[in-house]
Amino acid sequence: MKSSNTNFFMRVWQGDITRLPVDAIVNAANPTLLGGGGVDGAIHQAAGPELKQYCAGLGGCETGQAKLTPGFNLAAQYLLHTVGPVWHGGNQGEAALLASCYRNSLLLADQEGIVSIAFPAISCGVYGYPPEQASDIAVASLYKALNDCLLNKQIWLVGFDQKQAQIWQYSLDRFREPA
Ligand code: ADP
Repeated sequence: MKSSNTNFFMRVWQGDITRLPVDAIVNAANPTLLGGGGVDGAIHQAAGPELKQYCAGLGGCETGQAKLTPGFNLAAQYLLHTVGPVWHGGNQGEAALLASCYRNSLLLADQEGIVSIAFPAISCGVYGYPPEQASDIAVASLYKALNDCLLNKQIWLVGFDQKQAQIWQYSLDRFREPA
C-alpha cells in the first residue's frame, strides 16, 4: 500500500455530506464559485450567506483546480471547492481533469493541516460523468496523491444515495495500487 510513513484510511459514507463533522468538506463547485444546485447548493445553504460573500473575492476556479474557504456555519472547519469537468463523452480530457480535482483537493488539504476530508461524487450529478468510471478515477487518484501527503488522512467517499455509496464501495474493493 502506501509507501510513506503516514497513516490513512479511505471509507464510504452514505448521506448528506454537509452533516459530516470532518475537518474539510469538498464541494463540487462551478467555475464562478458563487453557488449552484446539487451538493454545491446544499453546502452554501448549510454554510450560510457568508460563504458566497467570501467566494466572491476568490476570482472563480478553473476546472480541475481547488480553492480553500472557511466552513462558516458547517461543522467542518474548511471547505475545498473544486470544479469537475462536464462530461462530453470522454474524449475531451475529462478523466485527467477529474483526477486533478481529487489530487489537488487532497494536496491542498494536506498543506493546510487537514486530516479528515469528505468527497462527494464530483461531476456525477448535473455534469453528467458516468459514476462507475468517475469512482474508479477518484479512488486511483486519491491513492496516488496519498503518497505525496505529509500528514495522516481520513478520507470519506460520500454517496448521497445508496446506489452511489455502492459504486464507491465497489471501486474501493477492486482497487489495487499501481506498482
Ligand atoms: P456536479 O455538477 O459536479 O455534477 P452535483 O452536485 O450535481 O455536481 O452532483 C455531484 C454528486 O453529489 C451527485 O452524486 C449528487 O447525487 C451528490 N449530492 C447532491 N447533494 C448532495 C449532498 N447534500 N451530500 C452528498 N452528495 C450530494
